[in-house]
Amino acid sequence: MKERVRVRFAPSPTGLLHIGNARTAFYNKLFALKHKGSFILRIEDTDVARHDPAAEAAIMEDLRWLGLAWDEGPDTGGDHGSYRQSERTEIYQEHAQRLLQGKKAYPCYCTPEELTQMREDLLAKGERPRYLGTCRGLSAQQVREREKEGRRPSLRFVVPEGATVVQDIIHGKKVFANNLLEDFVIVRSDGRPAYNFAAVVDDALMAITHVIRGEDHLPNTPRQILLYEALGFTPPRFAHHPLMVAPEGERLSKRYGATSVRAYRAEGFLPQAVANYLALLGGGISGGEEIIIWEEMVKRFSLEGIARSPATFDIGKLRWVNRGHLRAMSGEDILRNARPFIQDFPLDKVDDRWLAQVMDAVKENVETLVEIKEYLPIFLPGEFSVDDEARSALAEDGAVEAVKAMEAVVKGLKEVKEQDFPQIVAELKKRTGLKGKKLFAPLRAALTSRAEGPELKNILPLLGKQVILERLAQALKK
Ligand code: GLU
Repeated sequence: MKERVRVRFAPSPTGLLHIGNARTAFYNKLFALKHKGSFILRIEDTDVARHDPAAEAAIMEDLRWLGLAWDEGPDTGGDHGSYRQSERTEIYQEHAQRLLQGKKAYPCYCTPEELTQMREDLLAKGERPRYLGTCRGLSAQQVREREKEGRRPSLRFVVPEGATVVQDIIHGKKVFANNLLEDFVIVRSDGRPAYNFAAVVDDALMAITHVIRGEDHLPNTPRQILLYEALGFTPPRFAHHPLMVAPEGERLSKRYGATSVRAYRAEGFLPQAVANYLALLGGGISGGEEIIIWEEMVKRFSLEGIARSPATFDIGKLRWVNRGHLRAMSGEDILRNARPFIQDFPLDKVDDRWLAQVMDAVKENVETLVEIKEYLPIFLPGEFSVDDEARSALAEDGAVEAVKAMEAVVKGLKEVKEQDFPQIVAELKKRTGLKGKKLFAPLRAALTSRAEGPELKNILPLLGKQVILERLAQALKK
């Protein structure tokens, strides 16, 4: 029988969801969907010092916004809870005891100062700074003495001799010499589990089949494999994807713009476009159309397809993908997504059907939802300020003629409909002898107060006869 795929995303709640971590979550979700498995959310909140109480809820909100809902997690529950590490202390203690009893772990009484000293001494001798296994062979008597001094031990894992092989789905076979791993801490002196230990216990008990995470965790993997073996668990399969980098190959930091998913949301990117972009970034999706929906991404995704080289984040490409999604959307859909971005406009008396048509008219001109507000004034009543380019279009030879002709033509119509546009244009050409930019630039300037924007044939029916005539008259007065 084929095993049921179970994958997890395990964020540490230290701040907002980073776009790079969102990519990890996204790969996990795609993999789960592809194999009809489960996607689990686990909160790794054992680092009290870096813990931000608001971060957990914010991360969950952003994951859901992106379409990365989980099957099991802190709020949804599941058969393998708790899904918060801070609520699993007893479980870790129990497994640490097992290692201790099996002599696969030992208490270490070295103080932070002693450990720092050890490292400095080694460095001074030109050696690799490391833990020298000082407490590995303490006798019962030595342990009692240290306890009497009031020292609180951490727990260290006995790293065996030899080498550990990581068979990675993306990177292939990697061999790590165990003597470079040193006896690492699995439980801190205050009783909190260290990351490697907690992750292994949880991944094993939560029956995770595939660990998909960033390449920065690859050095942890041999330690984790040794822990699986010592605890008598079967390790999952591993896939470490390369990290996302800024265009110059540096870490993606604030310097290059937004780093959090929330910031992209605020900039007017659509969740499906962010997901689509993450899918295109760094392989994983086989060739073909680039503007794709979830079903298509799932179909074309494979872990093996992920590139081994870093994925360069390209904001221009993200904008292009977002534009592609906007263009494929109905006016109603855009309106639903655009609401938060246009709430400063007086829209309470405006008909939603009409507003959806406005969205449809402007969608070819924008790349993000925030940009919609630049074009909204064209359609709404009220004075607008004429931009410089539009002003000079109105000062051109023939401009007044064009505007007057339009006035006459529109006056003769009962209603201005989109399908009548070719006829209107033909009539204007006949009356003025103007064509192309000479004809349209002054009309656009008079009607929209700007030199560029949505197509006139889309704008006219939305303005309606009365507003069109008012604006043309206003332009002629100026
Ligand atoms: N809490 C770890 C992190 O956010 C999880 C790493 C893992 O996936 O094992 O980096």
